[in-house]
Amino acid sequence: MEERLKHDKLLRIFLKFPAVMNIALLTGMTVAFHVFVVSNYYTQYSKRLAIVLSCMQIFIYTMCMWSLITIFCNDPGFVPKNLKDLRPELYQRVKAESNQEMGGLHQMNEMTASKRTKTADLESQDNSADLESQDLIKTDGSDESTEAQDKSKKSKKNRKRVSTKERMTRFNYCHDCDNIQPPRAQHCHLCTRCILRHDHHCPWVGNCVGYNTYKNFFLFLFYTSFGALLGAICYISGWYNGFFGRFPKDKFTIATAIPTALSTMTFFSLSMMTFFIGFCIARNLIISEMSYIKGFLSPHNYSKSTLENIKEVMGDNPLTWFVPQFRIPRNCNGIDYTANVLD
Ligand SMILES: [Zn+2]
Ligand SMILES: [Zn+2]
Repeated sequence: MEERLKHDKLLRIFLKFPAVMNIALLTGMTVAFHVFVVSNYYTQYSKRLAIVLSCMQIFIYTMCMWSLITIFCNDPGFVPKNLKDLRPELYQRVKAESNQEMGGLHQMNEMTASKRTKTADLESQDNSADLESQDLIKTDGSDESTEAQDKSKKSKKNRKRVSTKERMTRFNYCHDCDNIQPPRAQHCHLCTRCILRHDHHCPWVGNCVGYNTYKNFFLFLFYTSFGALLGAICYISGWYNGFFGRFPKDKFTIATAIPTALSTMTFFSLSMMTFFIGFCIARNLIISEMSYIKGFLSPHNYSKSTLENIKEVMGDNPLTWFVPQFRIPRNCNGIDYTANVLD
C-alpha cells in the first residue's frame, strides 16, 4: 500500500515535467526571437520596429506564462469536499443508488462465475462419460450462458437509456472520493479528485482542464499561437530578406532554422486547437462529453445563447475575457446544470 502511494506520488511529480519543459521552451523561443530577429531589425533595418516587435513578444510571453501559472498552480475545480454535508439527502440517495447498482453487478458477476465453475467441474468429473451426458452438460451450459448474456444485455440497455436521457443532469456517487459527483464532473485518477466540468488532464500544463482552468487553457493556446505566428512571420521574412540582400546573409543562416521550424509547427498545430476549443466554448461543450452527446450539432446540449456560453467560461465581464484569472466571476457554480434534451 505504502509502495503504491509512493509510486503515485512519483508519477504525479513526473507528470509535472512536460509543463516545466513547456516553460523552458517558451523562454528559449523568446530569447531566440530577441537574438535572431530583434537584434537584426535593430542594427540592420528599423530601431522603432525592433522595439515594437520586442514589446509585442514580451507581452505575449508574459500572458503565456501567466496563463500557464494560473493553470499549473490553481485548483482545477475540485468538487468541494463538504458537498455531501451541504446536500445530505442527495448524498444518501446517490450513494444508495450506486451501491444498489454495484450490488446488482456484483451479484450478476458472481452468478456467471459460479455457473462457469459448475460447468468446468462437471466436465472434469468424467472425461470418459458417454456422448449423451456430454450433450446434457453442453446444452445446460449454453442455456445458462444465454440467460447471463440476456441479463447483461438488459442491464447494458438500461444503462444506455440512463446515459442518453438523464446523464446530462444526473448526480452520481464517486466511490474514490466518497462524495457526490455533479453532472459534467469526472474523477481524475492523476489528481485523485473529482473535477467540475472536467475536460481532460493535460500533462503539457501539468493539471486538469476543468471548471477553473478551462478559460486559462484557452488563453494559453491563444497567446502561444499568436506568439508563434509573430515568430514565424519574422523568421520567414528574415530568410526572405537575407536571400534578397536586405540583411547580411550570415544573420539568417542554419542557426535560425530550428526556431523557424518550431514557430511554424507550433502555430499550425496550436491555432487549430485554439479554434476547436473556441468553438467548444461558444457551443458549451467539453471533450469528455463528445462520446455521449455526439458532436457539435446534437440536440443534447448544455447550450444557451452564444454570449451566455462564452460568459460561462470566460467570465461575466467582457473586459477580462483575455486576462488569465485564478477565480473567474461568473453566473454559475459548476455544480448545477440544465440541459436541452430533445428526445
Ligand atoms: Zn472522485
Ligand atoms: Zn487531473
